[in-house]
Amino acid sequence: MRILVTNDDGIFSEGITRLAEAIADLGQVIVVAPDREQSATGRSLTLHRPLRIRQVKEHWFTVDGTPTDCVSLAVQGLLKEEPPDLVVSGINFGVNMGDDVTYSGTVSGAFEANQHDLPGIAFSQEIEEGFSFKRSAEIAHDVLAELLLHPLPVDLLLNINIPAKEPKGVRWTRLGKRVYEQSVVEKIDPRGRKYYWIAGTPRWESLEGTDFMALSTGHLSVTPLHLDLTDYRNLEETAPARTTLEGLQWPGAEVAGE
Ligand code: MN
Repeated sequence: MRILVTNDDGIFSEGITRLAEAIADLGQVIVVAPDREQSATGRSLTLHRPLRIRQVKEHWFTVDGTPTDCVSLAVQGLLKEEPPDLVVSGINFGVNMGDDVTYSGTVSGAFEANQHDLPGIAFSQEIEEGFSFKRSAEIAHDVLAELLLHPLPVDLLLNINIPAKEPKGVRWTRLGKRVYEQSVVEKIDPRGRKYYWIAGTPRWESLEGTDFMALSTGHLSVTPLHLDLTDYRNLEETAPARTTLEGLQWPGAEVAGE
């Protein structure tokens, strides 16, 4: 078992160090992670400049790019001869739940695994009093060891959030829903111009069966995700605009033999 480890907090963050150390007995661990923090870069891919891989120590490499770049370069370049069997991303400083998962570089690292037919697992840590990366890395180890007892499909993507306190157990969940709140702060800079800062702590709707609900009751949350963002419910004929839009025709288009 070869395990590629990445994250979005950067290679020098405590979460990735603890994780890589904790899972070393489960396989050969290779770390390929951003050389600086890349939180909230989502699935950003660097196309407009070259990327460099730099070795930090044995089996540890940095990339001057995003988590998506790291996994892409590792699988298709650095580890091309001996590709990994699994990508593990994290442990992120802060939860990645509900609507926020598409912002997350941590979750995107796992998404990129699926892009290369590899299972991906993302770990994020709730930051509240009592949290410890040392402990959450042990928990991540136990969860991974259990998962590895089963065959992992190549499109498996698990988004795992670890509560700050010792978990009461594991909940298999769906994504929760963020509550809208004022999160952009407007201020004046020293030259008298306006600037804006995206801030605020997300709040969540109390919905049964969600990742948020699991954490708020002290459980570890496991949410299976999928890269296919198609809204299958609205593919149904009942979608309001479907019939009229599908009846729309432009003159000049070849209609016959379509
Ligand atoms: Mn992060």
